[in-house]
Amino acid sequence: MRRIIRRIVDDFNIKKQANELGVKVWQAPSVLFILMGVVIVTAMTAIYFISRNNYSPEILIFSEIAVVAVLFTIGSFIIKSIEEVARANKMKSEFISITSHQLKTPLTEVNWEIEFLLSQHGKLLNQEQKDIIKTITNSNTKIIKLVNDLLDVVRIEQGRFILTEEKMDIVKVVEEVIEENKFLAKSSNIEIKFIKPDFVPEIIADRRRMKVVIDNFVSNAIKYIKSKGHIEISVDAKNDEIMVCVKDNGIGIPRSQHDIIFQKFFRSDNAAKYQTEGTGLGLYIAKNIIDQSGGKIWFKSVEEEGSAFYFSLPIKRNNPNNK
Ligand code: ADP
Repeated sequence: MRRIIRRIVDDFNIKKQANELGVKVWQAPSVLFILMGVVIVTAMTAIYFISRNNYSPEILIFSEIAVVAVLFTIGSFIIKSIEEVARANKMKSEFISITSHQLKTPLTEVNWEIEFLLSQHGKLLNQEQKDIIKTITNSNTKIIKLVNDLLDVVRIEQGRFILTEEKMDIVKVVEEVIEENKFLAKSSNIEIKFIKPDFVPEIIADRRRMKVVIDNFVSNAIKYIKSKGHIEISVDAKNDEIMVCVKDNGIGIPRSQHDIIFQKFFRSDNAAKYQTEGTGLGLYIAKNIIDQSGGKIWFKSVEEEGSAFYFSLPIKRNNPNNK
């Protein structure tokens, strides 16, 4: 109930709406709609009085034309402000797309050059120098991930986010993700347990993107555990679908923010306070990948106790051989 009231109050917060859309207050859609409503009510009342007082039909027609003209003018303002917002949105997407593409190549080159340097001259470097190079590589890899996430967001917004389909073993992908996050977990004193089922049928999905989803779940679990935690990963095959779950005993998500967790750029209040690193893009992208693969994504979380993130994918629909 409180949430509904807050939403209604937000809808009437015209200044906030205008700021969010980047238009002047009088151009905010709700102002224009209210104005249109006022004009319609006034016009109907005026016409009622005009017709009651037996004014000539010419006056009646003239007043109706005047009302229609006013409504058209307000309507054109509404269309113009919507067009402005849509244009700005398109420009923003293009800007992100161009800059991300431009950044991606040099950033990837930096990692290649470092790899080459280490393979050719690694023996000449002392431990301190190697550690510095490792820090540079890690930071650079983080930027590459951010650039890739931004490119994915633009692709999603423009409807160009295409998934491939291939036969894949989800258990193997989970194992790869655990292997890649092993050191990070260990350095944060976190134990990762994988409950492996006896048999999980292969599915047909985009392997690289599935890895992105699982990696997002696992790296978030590591990131949002304060200290000395444990993560439990399980894969299950039941009722013609496979289900992956990543459970942690981390900071959890406040109940009041559960509804908006998969929104673009969303970061919960407690997460933003505790962990400054984060963009709020991972779960948005993960949801798009799972939705587009015909699956479901959801979570359960209690603040200060922990979270469990899940996704499921159909087996039969994807792969007719897995009966
Ligand atoms: P990021 O982690 O980069 O901020 P995500 O999109 O992956 O972005 O996650 C969005 C938000 O969801 C996080 O900022 C955090 O508030 C919350 N969240 C996700 N996973 C967890 C988790 N395992 N424990 C607690 N909060 C989480």
